[in-house]
Amino acid sequence: QGILTAEQEGDDASLERSIRPQRLADYEGQPVAREQMEIFIHAARERGEALDHVLIFGPPGLGKTTLSHIIAHEMGVNLRQTSGPVLERPGDLAAILTNLEAHDVLFVDEIHRLSPVVEEVLYPAMEDFQLDIVIGEGPAARSIKLDLPPFTLVGATTRAGLLTSPLRDRFGIVQRLEFYNTPDLTRIVLRSAGILGAQLEEDGATEIARRARGTPRIANRLLRRVRDYAQIRADGHIDAAVAEKALDMLNVDAHGFDSQDRRLLLAIIEKFDGGPVGIDSLSAAIGEERGTIEDVVEPYLIQQGFMMRTNRGRMATSHAYRHFGLRVPDALSA
Ligand code: ADP
Repeated sequence: QGILTAEQEGDDASLERSIRPQRLADYEGQPVAREQMEIFIHAARERGEALDHVLIFGPPGLGKTTLSHIIAHEMGVNLRQTSGPVLERPGDLAAILTNLEAHDVLFVDEIHRLSPVVEEVLYPAMEDFQLDIVIGEGPAARSIKLDLPPFTLVGATTRAGLLTSPLRDRFGIVQRLEFYNTPDLTRIVLRSAGILGAQLEEDGATEIARRARGTPRIANRLLRRVRDYAQIRADGHIDAAVAEKALDMLNVDAHGFDSQDRRLLLAIIEKFDGGPVGIDSLSAAIGEERGTIEDVVEPYLIQQGFMMRTNRGRMATSHAYRHFGLRVPDALSA
């Protein structure tokens, strides 16, 4: 079982790499980010400069890593990839920075999780392309200064509010990714199906797109599972009817909500009378980490109008009651 699961994940991970767009032209949706990046990248290239540092924020799976790869590709430079929690000591960051070539892209995922000492090293590196670190300890310690090649830092985070303001201020370009609409996601799964060689009809693609929580990673994952279903339970063709049956089997409801979404909404309604309820009480009630609720679960539910974040806590909206076929409380139907 363990081995099978690992193999499956490896398979999915390499599939995911093969369907990740490489060019801005294949980056669907996000019209604001795409137009801005097209202009900034062309301008920097024409001037023969490194692109300014870019901060990308948005919930998981919306295309932050993909956009960073595209930036490197379109700039015609190398991409180095790391993440906040991996860079434990200043030396870890120094080792990467001193190995960069001019104009390279350094992608730091989860940049809000950098330790304060590493962040200190990043400031002069971003601002003046200067590395300023202390090597050794006690009386033998000495500080060294090194010039770095001009590079582009691309930082990704789920919420902009998690960053310290000195760090945020050092990004010249800030992109906030939005949830994708159904037509965008339909094009994404049709393109992925083409690469995977899956027989996906337009109406099947729309059905998957509608239920993908506005998120390309989820859309592509659903496509792979629906493809499995179609292969075993149908003749391999994915039309709307096959997609619908497969998605029902996967417990993804008509709004694209999964069991976690439903558990959260039902907890607010049934355990807290519809709210307002504090995030920590909610977290305890459903046994889900606060960070996961804030980063992964609630952004989509809020965007879809099924819950609200007020200064007294989270509340279910009338849409949420109707979704479960429950009577809308008078206070909400007013
Ligand atoms: P994040 O880094 O925000 O968690 P990723 O960049 O890893 O998300 O995106 C997840 C997957 O979704 C990628 O492998 C890619 O195939 C797909 N994807 C993301 N954004 C887009 C987009 N704008 N157009 C097409 N596919 C996308």
